[in-house]
Amino acid sequence: MLLLPALAASHHFIRQAVKPGDVAVDATVGNGHDTCLLAELVGPAGRVYGFDIQPLALSRAAERLAEKGLSGRVQLCPAGHERLKEHLPEECRGNVRAVMFNLGYLPGSDKTVKTKAETTVSALAAALDVLAPGGIITVVIYTGHPEGKTEQEAVYEWASRLDQRHVQVAVYQFLNQVGNPPSLLVIEKSL
Ligand code: SAM
Repeated sequence: MLLLPALAASHHFIRQAVKPGDVAVDATVGNGHDTCLLAELVGPAGRVYGFDIQPLALSRAAERLAEKGLSGRVQLCPAGHERLKEHLPEECRGNVRAVMFNLGYLPGSDKTVKTKAETTVSALAAALDVLAPGGIITVVIYTGHPEGKTEQEAVYEWASRLDQRHVQVAVYQFLNQVGNPPSLLVIEKSL
């Protein structure tokens, strides 16, 4: 099948956008799969900043990065993504090539700890501020859990108001799949 699931589609866009030497952010580290992808793409000369509020997520991710020999190019921040700007060095602001959000809860863990509409939107605004011209933000959104729909509506509401002279916003969503398949929102900052 040519149509990719939302998560794989986010990886497709990230692979196009991120090059060796870039700065990238994983706003929801979780088990570290996306962090590893970003770390591979930025290469040894690049830098990845990862955020999560759960120590379990950060330790799982740290282990995965170490196994792949990628730890040296990644800084894991035990903080909410809404505090992204506090943790990003001054020289990275306006220079971030990509920010990945994979919303919801940590697979195989406490499902009550999850991303929330208000902090997600504030983190997205911060991410857009630090993004380089031509950079992208990907947001994989799950509506199959309680509050997921509210979060999706808040994100769409915020994103649809962005000025098209500066930012392009698109949604990728299967319309005929059963079981609440996730959607992908992609934001691209104009050059
Ligand atoms: N990208 C991850 C991967 O590749 O394995 C999966 C992410 S998981 C679906 C969502 C993660 O968001 C959870 O680990 C959760 O702890 C984290 N999270 C929830 N609220 C957050 C916040 N305010 N800031 C950063 N991370 C948060």
